Amino acid sequence: MGNKSNYKFLLSDLSALKGVGSKTVKILKKKNINNIFDLLWKLPKSYTDRSLSSEIKDLRIGENQTVTVIPQKYYFPRIRNLPNRVSCRDNSGELDCIFFNSYEGYIKKILPLGKEITISGKIGRFKNKYQITNPKYISEDSSLIKQKHNTYSLTEGISEKIYNNIISQIIEKLPILDEWHSKDILKNFDNICWNESIKELHKPENIGNFEKNFYQRLAFDEIFSTFLVNSEIRKKIKKNKKKKKIINFEKQRFLIKKLDFLLTNDQLKSLNEINNDLTSSSKMFRLLQGDVGSGKTIVSLLSAYNTVNSGFQVAIMAPTEILARQHFNLAKKIFPKDICIGFISGKSIYKDKINILNNLTNHKIDLIFGTHAIFQKKVNFKKLGLIIIDEQHKFGVSQRKKLSDKGGNDCDVLLMTATPIPRTLTMTIYGDMDLSIINEKPSLRKPIKTYSKLENKIDEVIKFIKKEISLDNQVFWVCPLIEESKKIDHSSAIKKFEYLKKIFPNQVSLLHGKTTQEEKEQILNNFLDNRFKILVSTTIIEVGIDFPNANVIIIENANKFGLSQLHQLRGRVGRGKKDSTCILMFKSNLSENAKKRINILKKNNDGFIISEEDMKIRGFGDILGFKQSGIKNFKLADPIHNNDLFLLAEKEIKRIEKSKEDISKFKPLIKLYDRADIINDIV
Ligand code: ADP
Ligand code: MG
Repeated sequence: MGNKSNYKFLLSDLSALKGVGSKTVKILKKKNINNIFDLLWKLPKSYTDRSLSSEIKDLRIGENQTVTVIPQKYYFPRIRNLPNRVSCRDNSGELDCIFFNSYEGYIKKILPLGKEITISGKIGRFKNKYQITNPKYISEDSSLIKQKHNTYSLTEGISEKIYNNIISQIIEKLPILDEWHSKDILKNFDNICWNESIKELHKPENIGNFEKNFYQRLAFDEIFSTFLVNSEIRKKIKKNKKKKKIINFEKQRFLIKKLDFLLTNDQLKSLNEINNDLTSSSKMFRLLQGDVGSGKTIVSLLSAYNTVNSGFQVAIMAPTEILARQHFNLAKKIFPKDICIGFISGKSIYKDKINILNNLTNHKIDLIFGTHAIFQKKVNFKKLGLIIIDEQHKFGVSQRKKLSDKGGNDCDVLLMTATPIPRTLTMTIYGDMDLSIINEKPSLRKPIKTYSKLENKIDEVIKFIKKEISLDNQVFWVCPLIEESKKIDHSSAIKKFEYLKKIFPNQVSLLHGKTTQEEKEQILNNFLDNRFKILVSTTIIEVGIDFPNANVIIIENANKFGLSQLHQLRGRVGRGKKDSTCILMFKSNLSENAKKRINILKKNNDGFIISEEDMKIRGFGDILGFKQSGIKNFKLADPIHNNDLFLLAEKEIKRIEKSKEDISKFKPLIKLYDRADIINDIV
């Protein structure tokens, strides 16, 4: 057994290293490198450049390598089943890129003749020539590829010499950690230990060897530690014993019967899963996941109803006042009058607020709707039994845990999200929760027809809108969202608003980043009430709100959005019985790659499939802006390419949960890889 506290060296300050003065520390901190462990994942540019510049003549057959070449000539055979080929060269030799199933236009775009291009893939040899089949990463900017290799350029001010000195010191002192993985897991990685893996990772000749055991093991460590933390949080929450709720199924049946639609099988299944949790003696901590329009609201309201009938209070929170109010109105419509329903917002007037606070404390109110105002300190419940949170993808793990703690002992928690993401990501982001999924859409719903149009054909779009408006339908018009420049967004939306106003007098309203919250709610309410026909907006129209009468959405400069975002936007329409249409507008002709992506959208109505396909094309970091939403960034692991590692981690976690294994041996792993704020609670 090694020294158990060995790992602490890795968490120590950078100044512990020789030759690292305060100036260097400062530069590294700016790059978010705060301790020795952080440094392990940063390989400087120049350090990798040497291995990148491996010339064609030095390529090793059978290995994944990266090389910079200049494309010379295209061969697009007209005979079916023959692959497309691009012959490339550098100063030392020739290399062919072979493509199966790729469009000519796409190939021409990614491998323009005469330009230096950096590519990566498994090196093969055919007829005395090197070749890469379906190269993995292709980029004109070789630094992009290096990012894939997880290499970063260090900030100016640190010379390669200093950096190499730092790294070799670390490698020299690298502690030998007690192995945390089981023998069975290690077998998957040829039994390579953590220490050895890090050393391999830092060997220049190993850059880009994603498939090698050291790389896979290190990626697995990351995934596994995330899953383990999730699992421990869930266990901890479940440990809390609570008063079981007793469900009045008679009342539930009666309410379901009164609805003007039949619940889908998935809605019923989810409701059942929630009911099981409510009646169990451990706390519920569940995520209800379903695509836009899949009907999550009614499932959550039925759970609220059951909880109230069991003698408890329920709090339902939505991100915006208008969405909270829409849920509130629906509850008032479908629940019997003897249930007391309240609404609270930041804007409620003082007297009303006091009144509501009192009625929550004395349990006169059974069910309260509101924004985050619900969870202010001064809000106290007499007997809170269930918290429901709608559309809060921005809640991170630790926020969710706090939420569950806040509700008190008898309080169950249900979160809802429409963010359709592939399973590997769901496991990563929401692995601390149990999961109910609604896949099936309500049956009568018609698919939204999706078209693309060039911007200069706007007259055709106007003609189409005129027709729809004459049928009393409503239209969303979304203007380009250009993150770098709020100003441009703003003015382009205003321009479009002015333009449309002339064609449709008194029928157009505008929402943009500068609209105050109050005005915004006013405008959205008016739109809901069909008091005007076209809503021009820059920001993404509030998630979750149901606009049953809107059936057309125009999205300008659609290539500024990711596919999942486009799908979410499109989901604002198509709720009613009418045909609905989504028109994606583009400034110029689409590249083959963009066409491919848009076709995914046109052909699919399922957000899960769309996001999965999008991830395959664009990589996972980009979709849905998860980088901003607090998801921990993996250093090496990638939910698409390492799908097998995610599944392996899931299996291992299940085994550990079942065998009730002591997890203290994972302490170094969690301490090194995970979020300091919640781990103290766990190990
Ligand atoms: P989301 O899952 O996006 O929150 P909502 O709960 O807002 O979706 O539901 C969208 C619309 O579908 C609402 O108008 C709702 O009344 C309706 N709806 C829900 N369930 C069904 C169903 N089983 N059959 C028909 N319509 C339904
Ligand atoms: Mg919703």
